[in-house]
This record gives sequence, structure tokens and C-alpha cells, in this order.
Amino acid sequence: MTESTNLSCRMGMEIPARLTTFMQAAGKIAAGRGQRLYLVGGVVRDLLLGQTNLDLDLVIEGNAIELAQNLAEMVCGKITIHTRFNTAKIQWDKWSVDLASARSESYAQPGALPSVRPNSIENDLFRRDFTINAMAVHLNPDYYGKLIDQYGGQGDLKHRLIRVLHEKSFIDDATRIWRGLRYEQRLGFRLEDTTLRLLERDIEMLDTISGDRIRYELECVLQEKQPERVLFRAEELGVLGKLSPALKGNGWLAAKFEQARQVSSPNPPPIGLYLALFFYRLTVEQSNPLLTFLRLPKSLAQVLRDTISLKDWLPRLDSPQVRPGYIYQVLKDYKPLAITANSLATDSATVRQNLGLFLDKLRYVKSVLTGNDLMRLGILPGPRLKEILRRLHEARLEGQVRSKREEEALVRDWLAS
Ligand code: ATP
Repeated sequence: MTESTNLSCRMGMEIPARLTTFMQAAGKIAAGRGQRLYLVGGVVRDLLLGQTNLDLDLVIEGNAIELAQNLAEMVCGKITIHTRFNTAKIQWDKWSVDLASARSESYAQPGALPSVRPNSIENDLFRRDFTINAMAVHLNPDYYGKLIDQYGGQGDLKHRLIRVLHEKSFIDDATRIWRGLRYEQRLGFRLEDTTLRLLERDIEMLDTISGDRIRYELECVLQEKQPERVLFRAEELGVLGKLSPALKGNGWLAAKFEQARQVSSPNPPPIGLYLALFFYRLTVEQSNPLLTFLRLPKSLAQVLRDTISLKDWLPRLDSPQVRPGYIYQVLKDYKPLAITANSLATDSATVRQNLGLFLDKLRYVKSVLTGNDLMRLGILPGPRLKEILRRLHEARLEGQVRSKREEEALVRDWLAS
């Protein structure tokens, strides 16, 4: 394809008519104001790859918020504005479109968030991570569908290469290292030679990135179809080691992620399950600083802590003779996701069976008699009543009683003896 590639046909094929009509109308409004409007980023890359992507990002050489307000009115949609970044999101029916003003960026120091200035589309594309993500499609009526590819994105797509736009790219923003590995593995591309050399040279720059931003990158990795490929590559290039030398992305992880997909099918596994398997082989001492650094949401951090501490209990569940009441006592305070992670990670079929018994059955078992019922049977409130409730629950777990009547009979037996 040449400089004058036109993607209007492909847009018609890959993007629903409601969205193309929207983009055409937006292009008309922009043109009426003497401004230029573009479709940019991942959706352009995916259009050229023949893949459907409905994450529409529009960039205007002008005021994005003003245009977004007009467009939201046009579709009777909801608008969310970020004045600080001069961006807006429009949502209507099941659709969502992001709008930004074309801008250039400069970095006061590596890893800092950039200062931004309004600018041309050319400079807006230059601030982007990789050539394959630095293309735009003109949306003004006179040029509708025209591809803007100043940095060789099409050529790199053809040669299946991930290439940065300039040699300071990873220094400015080292999260691009993680992004690069993600695209490389998702698309089955390879890091272009100079880009690979720059990545290896600048790997230390990952230390300039906050835990919040690294956590976001990890979440993105774990939303990929096969996150293990990215983690394996990250280990190979020393990127994982920057997070923690104890983290491994090797074949064990790939096998466990695959099993996680099987047990979660038809849906992808929750991120928490992937993370739990990823953290599984760490000790408490190795995981604690990581949990602090990544500032994971409380309940997710608890899943990871539970996953690691449960490992020590598994040998006690490694016998077919373990009683259901005991299994329940051991597992009742652990997060279910942590138990699932241990069940996938263990080599023992017996442990897996006992964990499965808890997850599928024991955790739902309840006795029917309440404290009030017991008081009616003549038991006074206090520790004894509590103990009887606990033993009733245990009797249910062990299958000794199956109905309210059997529970009552058992309590009467206890009282008589
Ligand atoms: P995906 O398919 O993973 O969603 P995407 O290309 O849409 O890919 P986003 O993270 O949504 O990725 O970002 C949108 C666009 O913004 C990218 O295509 C890229 O041009 C640009 N971008 C995002 N993050 C960065 C970054 N850290 N540095 C430079 N450009 C970035």
C-alpha cells in the first residue's frame, strides 16, 4: 500500500454502520469549523490487520471538549469530560467513543507524566509508543478514509515488527516496555532489532515507574488471551526480574494458566486467579514488598496472601481419609479464588479432590436449626449453645444428619447424655 491508502471500505466492513455514520457526521462538523478530525491508534492498526476493534479513539486539531458536546447532543448520549487532559468520552446505546485534542508531549524526567501542548496530528502521532500504533485515518468529508502513516506503521505491520518512534522512547516512558511485549506476543510479531537493543539498554528505567502504573500494565497483560506468553518473554528479557527476581514466567506457569482457562471456560479466568498462580511460588517475604508496591485492591491482595499461606496447609489435606469437618475447618477462612489457585497448582490429586470437595460442596453446607430453635429445646444462650451449633454444622458436613428432624433428634441425644 502507498501513502494514499484509503481505508473507507475496510471501515465499512469492520465497523458497525452506527459508528461509521457517527464518524462521518463528526468529520463534517469538524470540517465546518475548519478543523481536521482523525481516527487514531489501535483501531487503525487493527483495521489494517483486518481485525474488528470497536475502541474508537478520535483526535481533533482543535478543542475536543467542544466537539464532544456537539456530538453527544447529536446522538443524545452521555458525555464524560476530563478538563485537565482536554479529553471526553461519549456513550450512547451500547457504543462508546473517546475524543482528544491533538497534542505533543514533553517529559520533565523519565517516568513522569508528560506536560502536554496542543499541536498538529503529526506531532500527536510522534508521541505514541510504536509505529504500528502511530497511524491515523482522516475523517473530514474531503479526505474520509485517507491513511496518515508518517512513521512506517504499515511497513512494520507487513514485516510483523514492533518499533519505537525514537531512541528515547523507553526513557520517556518505560511502561512502553511492557506494552511492547504485549503487542509482540498478542500479534505474533517481534521487537525490531534496534528497539530490542534500546529496550535492553533502558530496562533500568522501569524503576522510574510508579506501582500504580506497573499494576495497570500487569492487568493489561493478564487480560490478553495468553498472558503467559508475555510473562515468559518478560522473564527472558529481564523485565520480570525488575519487578521481583523471584517471579518466574516459565513453562510451569503456562501449563497452569492453560488449566485455569479450562476450569473457567467459557469465560476467561478472573485476573485474580491468574495473579494468584503468578504469585504462587513466592514466599510471604518475597510477596509482601510486591503487594505494597503494586497497591493492589484489598480483596485481591488478600487472595494472593491466602494463596501463599494455604500452601503450607496442603500436606494435611493429602489423604483420602481427611474428614469433611476437618477440611472445612482448614479452608473456611480462605478466599475461594486462593483455594482454586492451590487446587490448580498442587501436584497431588488427593489434595485437589479435597479442595474441590470444599469449593463444590462443603462451603455451602448449613445446618437448619438456629440459636432460637436450640433455646426452645431448653439450651440457655452462651458458649454451650455456640458449641452445639458448631457440632451440628459438623454433623451436617459429615453427613450424619440430613434434615431438621434429624438435627433435632441429635441435639436431644446430646442433651440426654
Ligand atoms: P489495545 O488493543 O491493547 O487496546 P490500543 O492501541 O488501543 O491497544 P490503548 O492503551 O487503548 O491501546 O492506547 C491507545 C493509543 O494511545 C495507542 O494505540 C497508542 O497510540 C497510544 N498510547 C497508549 N499508551 C501509550 C504510551 N504509554 N506511550 C505512547 N503512546 C501510548
